[in-house]
Amino acid sequence: MIRLKSEEEIALLRENALMVSKTLAEVGRHIEPGITTKELDVIAEKYIRSLGAEPGFLGYEGFPGTLCMSVNDVVVHGFPSGYKLKEGDIVSVDCGTIYRGYYGDSAYTFPVGKVSPRVQQLLDATKHSLELGIEQAVAGNRTGDIGEAVQSYCESLGFSIVRELVGHGVGRDMHESPEVPNYGRRGHGVKLHEGMVICIEPMVNAGRKEVYLDDNGWAVHTADGAPSAHFEKTVAVRHGKAEVLTTYEFIENNNR
Ligand code: MG
Ligand code: MG
Repeated sequence: MIRLKSEEEIALLRENALMVSKTLAEVGRHIEPGITTKELDVIAEKYIRSLGAEPGFLGYEGFPGTLCMSVNDVVVHGFPSGYKLKEGDIVSVDCGTIYRGYYGDSAYTFPVGKVSPRVQQLLDATKHSLELGIEQAVAGNRTGDIGEAVQSYCESLGFSIVRELVGHGVGRDMHESPEVPNYGRRGHGVKLHEGMVICIEPMVNAGRKEVYLDDNGWAVHTADGAPSAHFEKTVAVRHGKAEVLTTYEFIENNNR
């Protein structure tokens, strides 16, 4: 069942979206070689609580952190750990909040120092594909229009799309219907209506599309060990143009 949101509910989701956006920027300011993903997780938890919200992921189905910290070949759902980031790594930081009964959800993949040109291209392509997907998130379109836009762009550059994990609706639950795949066919899938709020989150591999689940039951790795990037925004479906609730402006303009 798809739960359409009222404007009041969208306002609460917008508040959460602002908080996750600011938290990602706070984490980003601390990313440098030598810091551990656990130290970054502590920074995020303190920051979210300072905003008056709660971490959305901590304890969710037993997840042990405030952030999913997914380094290099980890696609998503990596645990914060004692791993020290090093020059040339990439780290997907996925952040959730809960505030006044609603969830925020956004992710950004940061380079650690300077990364190889092909890895930088992977980051740029994944982020751009998210924007192409968002352009399709308008009332009357279908989830397949989003998926096709993401997939065709990324594959044209020789990258591949993870199939096992998809975007989702968001609201009082972090994962609501519909599923929002990052692959698909134009005109297929679930029809989009005004009042749907969805998370679009391309997970794009530099190598092959196949993935496997870590022994810890959470982290998803690329089967070939090649790096994977992940960007996620929360958007409200509108007529004509989606309303993007989260933003990367705090990260990319390096301001509060
Ligand atoms: Mg997320
Ligand atoms: Mg999500």
